[in-house]
Amino acid sequence: MTSPNDGSSRNLPNTTPCLSYWQRTTRAFPHLFADQHNQVPSTAKYVVIGSGISGGLTAFELLEAGVPGEDVVILEAREAASGASSRNAGHVRPDAFRGFNAYSKVHGPEQALKIIANERLVLEKVDDFVKKHHVACDFNLTTTFDVCMTPEFAKYEAESLQAYKEAGGDVSHIEFYEGSEARAKTRIPGAIAAYEWPAGSSHPAKLAQFLLQSVIERGAKLFTFCPATEVKQSTSTLWDIHTPRGIITAEKIIHCTNAHAALLLPQLEAYLRPNRAQAHSLVPTPAFAAENALQNTFSLRYSLHHFYSLIQRKGDGTLILGVSRSNPTLSSETLDGRFSIDDSRFNEEIAQDALRSFNKLFPDYTPGGNGMLHGEGLDHAWTGIIAMTTDSVPFVGAIDSLPGQYICAGFNGHGMARIFTCAPGVAEIALGREWSETGLPECFRFSHERLSRLSNGNLPSIW
Ligand SMILES: Cc1cc2nc3c(=O)[nH]c(=O)nc-3n(C[C@H](O)[C@H](O)[C@H](O)COP(=O)(O)OP(=O)(O)OC[C@H]3O[C@@H](n4cnc5c(N)ncnc54)[C@H](O)[C@@H]3O)c2cc1C
Repeated sequence: MTSPNDGSSRNLPNTTPCLSYWQRTTRAFPHLFADQHNQVPSTAKYVVIGSGISGGLTAFELLEAGVPGEDVVILEAREAASGASSRNAGHVRPDAFRGFNAYSKVHGPEQALKIIANERLVLEKVDDFVKKHHVACDFNLTTTFDVCMTPEFAKYEAESLQAYKEAGGDVSHIEFYEGSEARAKTRIPGAIAAYEWPAGSSHPAKLAQFLLQSVIERGAKLFTFCPATEVKQSTSTLWDIHTPRGIITAEKIIHCTNAHAALLLPQLEAYLRPNRAQAHSLVPTPAFAAENALQNTFSLRYSLHHFYSLIQRKGDGTLILGVSRSNPTLSSETLDGRFSIDDSRFNEEIAQDALRSFNKLFPDYTPGGNGMLHGEGLDHAWTGIIAMTTDSVPFVGAIDSLPGQYICAGFNGHGMARIFTCAPGVAEIALGREWSETGLPECFRFSHERLSRLSNGNLPSIW
């Protein structure tokens, strides 16, 4: 194991994480510190490592498929769901077409179409799931605007849309606005063009906690502050998972450790890298409160790699402002901080840039330069660690060289738009189904052939 701040992908999560807005508003979750002092059982049929939305939903799907809850153990290195799932920007936002060209270059047009169709399906699945199980996670199904803030980016989007259409992509759900219409629709005076399509937002920690609560109520065991530090072969069909509170011998292990997956799976070290991301909560001024609250979500784009994401929560009106990992205006020291796995604090320069940009994008936030009331404006800032893969898509499925081990990780800062098909997919495969039955894009499948392809060249990063 390397030290916590060396940017390596072979680390346990940092042990002193800050709290996000989402965590600060869910401190009463009764399983936050589940079984934190107890020894782990000596055996379990299924061990899910990681209690984020991937781990929680994988366990949930195993139980839905008939696995007894008592057969499932979830190991979590920190408090329950304390990784990216409880630290994100709250967007459940499919890519409608923008990534098509970039995905095509890496995976070919057929897979690129599938990647985009899969994200649309995830939105439907989240909506269905929340309704079916009455999940109180503040899910808000609405539409989102992709707002082009420069002519160059407007051109990039237009070309992506054209290529996507020519390849047979469905655009029936996408609206396009230009000039004054784009400005009126988005309330952004500097907008050059905008695209609109269905998307949603949610309270991601409440969603993750619902999944954990549901499986615990049905007999599954969650051990918090209990990292898996090593996995060793026990017999030809069994694995020993080492933790500080004992060794569990398991038939099947599902790695849902996202940015930290390479600690236990060193073969991923070069292809799955942690990156630190930051988000902010803002209390609205009157221009964004009550009937002036934003009804849509936003991606506000200066370029492919320089953008801001924005949602406004229905319940308390809080604005959640996410930032891109790249930004040409930031210092090199701040940009280098992206490679840290230290989510114990936030970066002040990024926060100041986010606020400045937000005020520029929405000048009526503080009309006439008037000061804000005490309590309005920036409420909180936090960081979390995302998992970037070198081909921009997750690793899902069986790890053939390690029979009985599976993975669902590497969501490229985009898991809310992917996990709701990937986690059910990995659960199906762990239960013996074929890859083709998952309906997932083939390029998501973990294979040694995929790794060797990645090691043969430097594929471009898409996000
Ligand atoms: C600031 C920020 C903004 C984001 N915004 C968005 C957004 O708006 N929309 C979107 O789609 N996505 C967004 N993301 C990404 C999204 O949050 C992730 O893709 C998603 O939460 C990944 O879920 P997961 O369950 O796979 O991983 P995680 O939630 O990270 O869960 C992995 C868990 O595994 C645990 N773990 C790791 N190693 C071990 C080990 N060895 N033993 C035991 N436990 C271990 C970790 O502690 C963690 O709890 C954002 C992320 C961040 C940080």
